[in-house]
Amino acid sequence: MGIGSALIGPDIATLAACNNKKDGQKLGIALVGLGGYATYQLAPALQETKNCYLAGIVTGTPAKEKIWADRYSIPAKNIYNYQTFDNIAGNPDIDIVYIVLPPGLHKEYTIRGAEAGKHVICEKPMAIGAADCQLMIDACKKKNRMLSIGYRLHFEPYNMEMMRLGQKKIFGAIKKIESANSFTFGNDNTSWRVKKSLAGGGPMMDMGVYVIQGARYTTGEEPVYVSARQEKTRPDFFTEVEETCIFEMEFPSGAKAFGRSSYNENSNSLHVEAEKGWFELSEAYRYGGMVGATSRGKMNFPNINQQAAQMDDFANCILTGKPTRVPGEMGMQDMRIVDAIYRSLESGKKEKV
Ligand code: NAD
Repeated sequence: MGIGSALIGPDIATLAACNNKKDGQKLGIALVGLGGYATYQLAPALQETKNCYLAGIVTGTPAKEKIWADRYSIPAKNIYNYQTFDNIAGNPDIDIVYIVLPPGLHKEYTIRGAEAGKHVICEKPMAIGAADCQLMIDACKKKNRMLSIGYRLHFEPYNMEMMRLGQKKIFGAIKKIESANSFTFGNDNTSWRVKKSLAGGGPMMDMGVYVIQGARYTTGEEPVYVSARQEKTRPDFFTEVEETCIFEMEFPSGAKAFGRSSYNENSNSLHVEAEKGWFELSEAYRYGGMVGATSRGKMNFPNINQQAAQMDDFANCILTGKPTRVPGEMGMQDMRIVDAIYRSLESGKKEKV
């Protein structure tokens, strides 16, 4: 399935019939896991959304309950912990659960959310391997619930322009892509980001999925082969996961993408060379402050609240029965590619996706 093509989702007629909201009513979202991304990005974004609102929370830290309840006027009946999470099934205020936990927990909470009859948004990376993604998709299908991945850049104007320029071949066929997405990860060796069971891997899982996405949505193609190698300057710190992953993806048209993802440098860029010119984002994957240009001149688009746009679109999909443009299948395809990249790190050879 191409990344830009019509996407598989639950049966549309049935889905539309399953949402019991009256016209104009917003869908309720419960954030599952109140860490950095939920606290500083998603909850503030939910103050700007039109089709959904912050209706509930799921947290393992009792001290956070009152803080969040006071800040966002969340009633006690909409506050859960990880043990009581399944009781959310009987709560009509919550339509969507948004899983913002470490990746190693995405499968469990997506499946429990679907079993509880809720639509699910799951953060990237979708899981810690493609096999788990399939189980998540199956669980949502079985309960006729919609599943989407937190791919906010599909709603972001500069990245949408990269999709248009590449997929419509405005500069001719794409020859080469170079992209990096990295940040320096401090010295917290207790973080889930350096624990294989919770993170699935290192920066390749956490940040590299954006590079894979960037290459997929500019070409509109699926890579056939990948090869990868790693660099480690702090083996004492990165004992379970890679520190830097350097990888290559080969596309059926002959286009090649060169990617880099590291916990030891700062970067976020997407550069595309095509037959008749180039186009790029030198600030590509952040929450704002995008910078873009082509061989014809600068790009000029508004910077928007990406998370608000992403969540509003998902709520709208549920309300209208439209398929989401960022479904579980898209997250699973990224995980297939990541799986192949890790196989290549092991084998030292080119691997088929
Ligand atoms: P974080 O460490 O700040 O938060 C993780 C939360 O999970 C914490 O509240 C923690 O208490 C909770 N948790 C529950 N069980 C846990 C366990 N067993 N071990 C560790 N923590 C546990 O992480 P984050 O940066 O908020 O990331 C959460 C998810 O959001 C990840 O999947 C990450 O990739 C994703 N994320 C996405 C974006 C984006 O731009 N889409 C940005 C940041 C993070």
